[in-house]
Amino acid sequence: MTSVLVSGASVAGPTTASWLARAGHDVTVVERADSLRDEGQNIDVRGAAREVLRRMGLEEAALAHGTGEQGTVLLGEGGRELARFPASTDDTTGPTAELEILRGRLGQLLFEHTQDDVAYRFGDQIAALDQDPDGVDVTFLSGKEERYDLVVLADGVNSRSRDLVLPDAPRRYLGMVIAYLTIPRIDDDTDWWRWYVAGQGRGVNLRPDDTGTQRAMLNLMTDVRGIDVLDRDAQVTLLRRAFAGAGWQTDRILAELDDAPMYLEDLSQIHLDRWSVGRVVLTGDAAWCATPVSGIGTTLALSGAYTLAACLAAHDDHRAAFADYDARMRPFVEKGQSLPPGTPGLANPQTDLGRKVLGTALKLAASPVAKKLGTALGRFGNPPADEYELPAWP
Ligand SMILES: Cc1cc2nc3c(=O)[nH]c(=O)nc-3n(C[C@H](O)[C@H](O)[C@H](O)COP(=O)(O)OP(=O)(O)OC[C@H]3O[C@@H](n4cnc5c(N)ncnc54)[C@H](O)[C@@H]3O)c2cc1C
Repeated sequence: MTSVLVSGASVAGPTTASWLARAGHDVTVVERADSLRDEGQNIDVRGAAREVLRRMGLEEAALAHGTGEQGTVLLGEGGRELARFPASTDDTTGPTAELEILRGRLGQLLFEHTQDDVAYRFGDQIAALDQDPDGVDVTFLSGKEERYDLVVLADGVNSRSRDLVLPDAPRRYLGMVIAYLTIPRIDDDTDWWRWYVAGQGRGVNLRPDDTGTQRAMLNLMTDVRGIDVLDRDAQVTLLRRAFAGAGWQTDRILAELDDAPMYLEDLSQIHLDRWSVGRVVLTGDAAWCATPVSGIGTTLALSGAYTLAACLAAHDDHRAAFADYDARMRPFVEKGQSLPPGTPGLANPQTDLGRKVLGTALKLAASPVAKKLGTALGRFGNPPADEYELPAWP
């Protein structure tokens, strides 16, 4: 039996832990937050990742906890409808996937599925890693010191533990900030994802959930970096200024900014040419964040976590396992990270002309002809989730 420390208890961490425990390893998950985090909004589980949930016996539960989103409707000036994309009836296509679930809900399902087989430790994190050919000495922020055979870093795009083994990971900022809020639902709300193209690089979104509230997103194209690390008051002031007069339902969302649960991120991709250093290996967003605009981040996390565990189960030597994992996942990750040209600026245009061009493009993208041709427009919101075959469990 090998002892494995997994850092991060969101999607990639518990999934890796589950499969490693199944292979007979002794697994501990350390999570920086004091308890399971329930923030976040609607995420898609597609293609290979649906299969991972299926193999874990969790697909039905995940579908039962879906957000009920019926599809995506894009709105232009004055809230006028530009295009409509009904939810998929399969597990790969369209901006609204068949399996849409709140991130916190998926995290909870994965946690409950694993908590009897895996030791969870909340409110702590890795402070130092010191490895030799036989193992990894881990010092935690709490002062605890332990030795493990392997360490898996699954602690997200801003992973600090990644810096301990691969400092200055190449990062590509997309020039967009998203604020996610949970706001009260009103009678006029629908079960569609309504995406208002507000101009001046702004997008205002409302999406249904399965908890009786609405999930709002404020998208802002900006060259200013560091907004994500400002304090909440400063973020609220900035968002109020940036979205003043944007129209449609913006004022309703701005009115909730002081009190609503909020999570704000500055979108960036991680591009590493290796995902392991000795006995330490990365997975999920920590390894290859593709960002929410890719529509495939959670799919990559679930598929990657399973693949890593399957490769470790298939090889006696961790080096061979990590090489196999890299070879299998890299083409899929590269496809997932490769965004259509102009993303995300084209979907959040600055000028009136940009809004008009987007309106025309969306009408085309929503047409059956464009979909059949599989043009770049028809691929709107349709990431390559089915272009990966999971390894068989050895
Ligand atoms: C709070 C939150 C809200 C999100 N909301 C959305 C959303 O609305 N839409 C969307 O598309 N994607 C969202 N995401 C991102 C989405 O979950 C991921 O893109 C995807 O599911 C991959 O998951 P992951 O497990 O690799 O990373 P993440 O989901 O980012 O999880 C990383 C986990 O590691 C923990 N962690 C961070 N640093 C450390 C550390 N040093 N030590 C130990 N633990 C650490 C974090 O608290 C978190 O639980 C959100 C992520 C988080 C953390």
